[in-house]
Formats: sequence, C-alpha cells, structure tokens
Amino acid sequence: MEGSKINDKTITETLLLEEGYRKYSGEDLDIYYNKDICAHIGNCVRGNPDVFEVGRRPWIIADNGSVEEDIRVINSCPSGALKYIRKDGK
Ligand code: SF4
Repeated sequence: MEGSKINDKTITETLLLEEGYRKYSGEDLDIYYNKDICAHIGNCVRGNPDVFEVGRRPWIIADNGSVEEDIRVINSCPSGALKYIRKDGK
C-alpha cells in the first residue's frame, strides 16, 4: 500500500497523529505506525529486520535503513499500518 498517502491524499503528520499513528523519527524520513490497523503479516520485519524488529524498543528505527529502502518496505505493508513522511525534500 502506498505509504505516503491515505485514500489517495498526501498525508500530513497532523492527519496521521489524529488517526492514531505513532511516530518513529529518523534523520531524513519519519515512519508512522498504527497498531490498530496492523494485520501482523510481517512484511516489515521480513523486509528489513534492522529497521523493524518486534520486541526491540523502539521496534522501528528508521535510520537503520536508507530512505529508499525504508520506503520500499513501508510500501510492502498490505494493511496501511505503516506510513512515512520524507524530510529530505525529495
Ligand atoms: S507489514 Fe504492515 S501489517 Fe504487516 S506486520 Fe508490518 S506493519 Fe503490520
């Protein structure tokens, strides 16, 4: 699912926080996660266990992957529980 949009609308941090997403900040990209939407399918942890590791705190560390790699994994989330906002102006 497209990780920078909800219902085809480009997301903002305000919208994500209102919708119940929690923010995991990175240098050039912030990752947002909504546990109520997560379907526990595991594409994230299989996609990049350095960035997404269940049981670690925080379980998401955006800077453990490159921006492009984080986006690739986030877009593989089928439920929409993972979203991102780029901060590098690209
Ligand atoms: S890929 Fe998405 S739905 Fe699957 S476990 Fe990760 S966050 Fe949850």
